[in-house]
Amino acid sequence: MALIVQKYGGTSVGDVERIKKVAERIKSIRDDGNQLVVIVSARSGVTNELIARAKAISADPSEREMDQLLSIGEQETIAFTAMALHAVGVPAISYTGAQAGIVTDKAYTKARIQSIDAAAMKADLAKGNVIIVAGFQGIDSDGQTTTLGRGGSDLSAIAIAGAIKADKCEIYTDVDGVYTADPRVVKNARKIDEISYDEMLELASSGSKVMQSRSVEFAKKYDIQFEVRSSFNHNPGTLVKEEAASMEKVVVRGVAVDKNQAKLIIHNLTDKPGTAAKVFRALADANIVVDMIVQNVGHNGVANLTFTVPSIEVNKAKQALAPVINEVGAKLSAQEEFAKLSVVGVGMKTHSGVAATLFKTLADVGVNIDLISTSEIRITVAIDQAKADDAARAIHTAFGLDKA
Ligand code: ADP
Ligand code: ASP
Ligand code: MG
Repeated sequence: MALIVQKYGGTSVGDVERIKKVAERIKSIRDDGNQLVVIVSARSGVTNELIARAKAISADPSEREMDQLLSIGEQETIAFTAMALHAVGVPAISYTGAQAGIVTDKAYTKARIQSIDAAAMKADLAKGNVIIVAGFQGIDSDGQTTTLGRGGSDLSAIAIAGAIKADKCEIYTDVDGVYTADPRVVKNARKIDEISYDEMLELASSGSKVMQSRSVEFAKKYDIQFEVRSSFNHNPGTLVKEEAASMEKVVVRGVAVDKNQAKLIIHNLTDKPGTAAKVFRALADANIVVDMIVQNVGHNGVANLTFTVPSIEVNKAKQALAPVINEVGAKLSAQEEFAKLSVVGVGMKTHSGVAATLFKTLADVGVNIDLISTSEIRITVAIDQAKADDAARAIHTAFGLDKA
């Protein structure tokens, strides 16, 4: 007997028929003598639809109310899934995030999990129940509903797998696993059999939405191995795990594109110690994650400072920066029409020439590089959004990642 955590994403529970299919899969695994805790997402499209409706009511809705609203998407799915299991004779009980004991901090819309009290889940498992938990949500220490950031059901699943010491954690989605690039954009992308936490983390934080990046961060921190696989077939998926020596043989594991970033430029910023600190302090205090940062060489005592933030946080960033901009007499502008393109691979630690191949390929397809940033295992360029998909395909080919 094994204790298995499974997570089913939005498409996998997208309608009544699919929920019934999920129930069948759960039943057959339980019939083999296993215990299951199943995390489900909102039906695909529901979260986006709720956000659109909120925006139609208010341009800048309160984050607390957004979390109240968005948490209902997952709550619908848990009840349907439990009912579908009952219909095939499987005892099951649905839990909201709060009922599952998921306690978070107070950062509405992107709360962090602080603890999980698994006592209730364990007691219901012992009684023979399958537990169905609403992904993406938790509760803070004051009893307020919080959500874990877009794609956050992945995090719910991995954190629960860690908390109950599951023997296995499976993330079911609408593709066969993690590919060398988004298979919807790069037709020649290949499924990866095994990938390290670090590579998966870099791909996820560079725009590969197959896994939420914070969930991978969590998995790496607590060494919670998981498999990404399809809910539509029984093909083996992608194992995400600790780095193995053999993984370094592959120089570039995958290519990612992120079109959800905005570029903010502060013009004429006084070029003296402490100014950049003020800018980034204001952003940090507003809980905004900054990615690429470039400051050009100063002239006449002023410089331009460019950095990227998630597009959904542009307004919040502008508000947070207004006092600083005022104080130092600078000017702020935003550009949203660009994309970040990244190549990722642990082999970069020991191989050279990745940047040269990347830049040459971009030049060959006529793509200009705007900003560059790197980590030990990643190179990212900011480029024209309209050319990003073509560039990704060319780079995928250039690094030999295409299907044989
Ligand atoms: P779920 O609703 O199951 O959480 P998501 O839509 O969040 O599913 O993530 C799955 C999608 O991620 C796929 O349909 C695919 O288009 C996209 N994707 C982006 N990059 C990759 C990649 N490298 N490998 C696999 N899928 C990717
Ligand atoms: N429903 C949430 C979202 O669309 C969480 C998830 O699907 O993981 O972002
Ligand atoms: Mg997802």
